[in-house]
Amino acid sequence: MSALHSRTTGGHVYRVASILAVAVLWIVSFATHPLRAHGPGSTKFHVDAQRLQGTLEKLSEFGRNPEGGVTRLGFSETDLAAREYVSALMKQAGLEVRIDPAGNLIGRRAGSENLPILLFGSHIDSVLHGGNFDGDVGSMGAIEVMRALKDGSVKTRHPLEVVIWANEEGNHFGLGTLGSGVAAGVLGPEILKRKDEQGLTLADWLHRYGQDPSHLTDARISRGSLAGFLELHIEQGPNLDEHSIPIGVVQGIVGLKGWQCVVTGFANHAGTTPMNRRKDALAAASKDVLIVREVVRAESGRQVGTVGYLKVDPGAVNVIPGRAEFPVELRDLDATKIDRMWVRIQERFKETDQEENVETRCTLLEDIDPARADPDFQSAVGDAAKSLGLATMALPSGAIQDAQQIAKIAPMGMIFVPSRDGISHNPKEFTSWQDIANGAEVLYRVVLLLDDQLNRN
Ligand SMILES: [Zn+2]
Repeated sequence: MSALHSRTTGGHVYRVASILAVAVLWIVSFATHPLRAHGPGSTKFHVDAQRLQGTLEKLSEFGRNPEGGVTRLGFSETDLAAREYVSALMKQAGLEVRIDPAGNLIGRRAGSENLPILLFGSHIDSVLHGGNFDGDVGSMGAIEVMRALKDGSVKTRHPLEVVIWANEEGNHFGLGTLGSGVAAGVLGPEILKRKDEQGLTLADWLHRYGQDPSHLTDARISRGSLAGFLELHIEQGPNLDEHSIPIGVVQGIVGLKGWQCVVTGFANHAGTTPMNRRKDALAAASKDVLIVREVVRAESGRQVGTVGYLKVDPGAVNVIPGRAEFPVELRDLDATKIDRMWVRIQERFKETDQEENVETRCTLLEDIDPARADPDFQSAVGDAAKSLGLATMALPSGAIQDAQQIAKIAPMGMIFVPSRDGISHNPKEFTSWQDIANGAEVLYRVVLLLDDQLNRN
């Protein structure tokens, strides 16, 4: 000590003081910055993996099928019971719970500043004979994030809300992403009179959810009232699992265009019509089916193209098919690529028409725009994963998501976790508990990163 002091000059004192100041600042930020509560770059989890597993297991009891998995259709008794459970969890997490007029279940946590809401969540409805992870992981993960924030007494600048969107799968009423669609202003009162198999209208069901359907449009979220939307979800495809990557940074949700094509030939006697005089609609359609696949495969990237069925008339063993009908569906994150592939497919269909002496007409039936994830949200997901030492892969969502609707009114980001063998909408759907915990911890960190970054002047 004295030896040091004896050689201390003014410059040394200054240096020691500045080092001390930096150390103090570092300790202060260490204590106040929630992500550093366990040390800078700590890989220690804030979410409780066991508790999250417990809530997912409990949720899986609502609508459980004998073969495993669940049938928990949106707007069903099972859904209603599961929502009661989830609502109780939200209250345990200290959230102020409400249901909006579209049936979306929302839990709110106040922020320290007067800022737009940072929203995150998913859905708990399933398809018929679905799995236990689609929607459920993101829903229970979001609630676990809220519980972890409460446990750590973490304050955020933005108010935070967890949302469980109503009827994402659309197996009831045939209206997918219903709750988020109403919130985004895409769906309106025209949907209220839709009837289900039992003759109950959507309005009847909203009454059961304690809502006045005449106020449906009050569920609309105004542009500017959301700082952003985040959704944790299983990939429902094989990419992460195949490459053993724990976290997917979603670039966006693919757009989709769907056409119905009709090939018109001429139905005639199968025994008497010479081969060179035939107008065989099925032979032509068969070529067209393979053309779709060839054109889609000829481009590099993750685009997909599907012909889902083929209907043939008259459909008899001894009649040359006079008419064939099939759909063409193309999906990609880049809308111009979809259009480019479609131009090429039509050129090739014309060649088929000439070769087979038929006429093919296609009508556009479905047109859904791709939804890009916000670049800053994508970076936050990447940074959060990196802080945990988890490898990431950037990829699009090939499945329709609630986030696709919300992207129309606010910046959006999605976190994917692996689906074993890429299986989804099936009781065999599976994501490991570790992967689920990783996803929830990444969501926790992304929420805090964005809370820190967004709406700074
Ligand atoms: Zn889903």
